[in-house]
Amino acid sequence: MSKKQFKAESKRLLDLMINSIYTHKEIFLREIISNASDAIDKLCYRSLTDDKVGMSREDFRILISADKDSGTLTVSDNGIGMTAEELESNLGVIAKSGSMAFKQDAAGGEGPNDDSLDIIGQFGVGFYSAFMVSDKVTVISKAYGSDKAYRWESAGADGYTIAECDKDTVGTDVIMHIKPDDDNERYSDYLMPWKIMRLVKKYSDYIRWPIQMDIERPEARETGEKNEDGSPKYETVTKVERETLNSQVPIWQRSKSEVSEEDCISFYKERYHDSTDPAAVIRINAEGQVSYKALLFIPGRQLLDYLTSSYEPGPELYSSGVMIMEHCQDLLAESFYFVRGVVDSPDLSLNISREMLQHDRQLKLIAQNINKRIKNELIKMLQNDRPRYEAFYANYGRQLRYGAVANYGQDIESLRELLLYNTDVDKTATLKEYVGNMPAAQNVIYYAVGESVQKILRLPQAELVRSKGYELLCMTDEVDEYIVEQLGAQDEKKFCNIVTDDLGLDTEEEKKELEAREAEVKDTLDFVKDTLGDKVAVVRLSRKLVSAPVCLTTEGSVTLEMERYFKKLPPTGMEPPKARRVLELNASSPAFAALESAVKTDGERARKLANILHAQALLIAGEELEDPAAYAEDVCSLF
Ligand code: ADP
Repeated sequence: MSKKQFKAESKRLLDLMINSIYTHKEIFLREIISNASDAIDKLCYRSLTDDKVGMSREDFRILISADKDSGTLTVSDNGIGMTAEELESNLGVIAKSGSMAFKQDAAGGEGPNDDSLDIIGQFGVGFYSAFMVSDKVTVISKAYGSDKAYRWESAGADGYTIAECDKDTVGTDVIMHIKPDDDNERYSDYLMPWKIMRLVKKYSDYIRWPIQMDIERPEARETGEKNEDGSPKYETVTKVERETLNSQVPIWQRSKSEVSEEDCISFYKERYHDSTDPAAVIRINAEGQVSYKALLFIPGRQLLDYLTSSYEPGPELYSSGVMIMEHCQDLLAESFYFVRGVVDSPDLSLNISREMLQHDRQLKLIAQNINKRIKNELIKMLQNDRPRYEAFYANYGRQLRYGAVANYGQDIESLRELLLYNTDVDKTATLKEYVGNMPAAQNVIYYAVGESVQKILRLPQAELVRSKGYELLCMTDEVDEYIVEQLGAQDEKKFCNIVTDDLGLDTEEEKKELEAREAEVKDTLDFVKDTLGDKVAVVRLSRKLVSAPVCLTTEGSVTLEMERYFKKLPPTGMEPPKARRVLELNASSPAFAALESAVKTDGERARKLANILHAQALLIAGEELEDPAAYAEDVCSLF
C-alpha cells in the first residue's frame, strides 16, 4: 500500500498539531464529536426524503469507547460516512475557511508561535486536532449508499494510507492511538471515563445527538448464600451500562413557555457558582437578519473576581450547541462587561479564527442587538424597581461610567440615561430627573467631584448652592469629570463645577460690591499671597462661601481631581499636569477680620494665620498637608 503525501499546507498544520505545546489539547474531543454530529445531521436530513435510509431520529448516536490495553480512544457515529474519495479529499487537505485563516496566520512565522497556538485552543482546526493527543489516527468509514468500507490511517506528517476494509454499518469510527504520557501532559487521562465524561460535559453538552459510553459501575449483588445471622450475603460486581453523557437540549434553546424564570435563575446559580439571584435575566430569541438565542444575566452582586485581572468578560459563544469560545468579549460593550450568559447562533462557523470573528458581520449584528437589549433591561429596572437599580448601580455603576468614556466616549450617548448620582446621602437622581427637579430660577446643573458623598456635601462651596434650594450632583469617580466634559449638557442645561466654575449666583450689584471690597483689603490679600508663595496661584475674596472662612478652588482646565488622577497613573517620564490653585477667603467671616487686623499689627501672627487658613482649605479639599507638624505648631501657638 503506497503512502500518499498530505498537501503542503495540511502538512504544515499537522506538524504544528503534533508538536503543539498548547495546553488546551483537550479540545480535540470536541472537534471529533462535532464532525460526528454533522455527519449524523446529514444522514438524518437525507432520511426525511429517502426511505431507504431506514433510520429514525432515535437511532442516531455518537459512541465513545476507550481501550486502556491498546491505548485507543474511539469516537463512532452512524452518520453519513465517507467514500474513499471523500476520505482522500476531506482528510488529506485543508480547504475549509477556518483552517485557511489559520494557515495564513501560521504562515507568518517560522515555527508555531503563541498566536497560532492560541487559535488552536480557541477554535480548533477540526479533524487535525486529533494529532495533538495521538501518534496515529485511524478512520474507518462506510458511506451511505456504498457497499464498501475504507480505512484511512496516518501517523502524522509523513503521509497517510487508504485501503478497503470491513465494516458492517454505515458511519465512521475515528480511532485515536493516544500518545504516551510525557512531562507536560498526561495523555493517558484521555482514556479515563471520568475525563471523557468531563470533557463531553464541558464542550459538547448541547450536541443534539446522544453521546454515549459504556460505563462500568460497581453494584452489590446477592450471592445466594446467607450470613450467620441469616441475612443475605452480597458481593460487589461490575455492571456495564450504556449511558448518555450529554444533556442535548440546552435551556436557552427551549421556548419561553417551557422554561420558567426560576429555571433560568437556577441555571445561572449552578453554572456561575453564585448563590445570589441575578438582578435580571435577559432571554432573546432572535430571528431574521441574524438568528441567535441568548440567555444573559446581570449578576445580583459584585462578582468576587470582577475587579481582578483574572476576570474574563464576555458570554459563552456557541454555534448550534457546540461551544466556540468560553468568553466572547466582542459581544459586549465595555460598559456591560459584568453581563454573563450564553449566546448561540447557527449562523456562526465553528472553525473561525478570533481575528475573523472580530470582523464577522453576523457577530457584529448580534453584539449590537444584545447591547441594546441589556440597556433596555436596565432602563426597565430603573423605571420599575428603583431600589434594585440602585443596588445594581452600586455594584456596576463604575463599569458603566468607565464604559462611557472608553473609546473616546463613543458609547456615551447611549449610556446617558443610565447614569445615576447622589444628590444627598440617601437620594439619587438621573441627569434627566435632576433637570426635571430644577427650580425655575436655576440655570445650570451643579456638581462637585470628591472622595465621598458626605465629603462633597460638606464642601464650603456646597453650602451656598444648597442654601438656594438647588440640588448638587455628587460625583465620586475619577472619570466623572470626563463624563461631564463629554456630555456637555443635559436637556440644554450646562454643567457647573461648584469648586472651579463661576456659580452664576450673584447679581451685577453684588459683583461690584465684591470688587470694591477686594480693593479695600488688597494689602491683606497680597500679604497672604506673599506668605504662601507659589503654593497658590491667586488669593482672592470668595463669592461662594456662606459661613466657612476659606476654600481652595482652581482656575483653568486642570482640576484638583484630575491632578490626583494623573498622579496615580504610572509615570510617563513627563511631569503630570498641575492645577492652578486659588485660595478664596470669606471677607465676612470672623477669621478674615482677625487676619486683617494681624496684618496691620503683628506680622508674625498674620503669617501663622495665613498658613493655617491655607492648611484648612487644603484639608477640606481632601489634599494632604506638606508639613502637618508645622501646622499643628502654628495652631497651638495661638492658644
Ligand atoms: P470541518 O469540520 O471544519 O469541515 P474537519 O477537518 O474537521 O473540518 O473535517 C473535514 C471534513 O471531513 C468535514 O467537512 C467532513 O466532510 C469530513 N468528516 C470529518 N469527520 C467526519 C465524520 N465523522 N463523518 C463524516 N465526515 C466526516
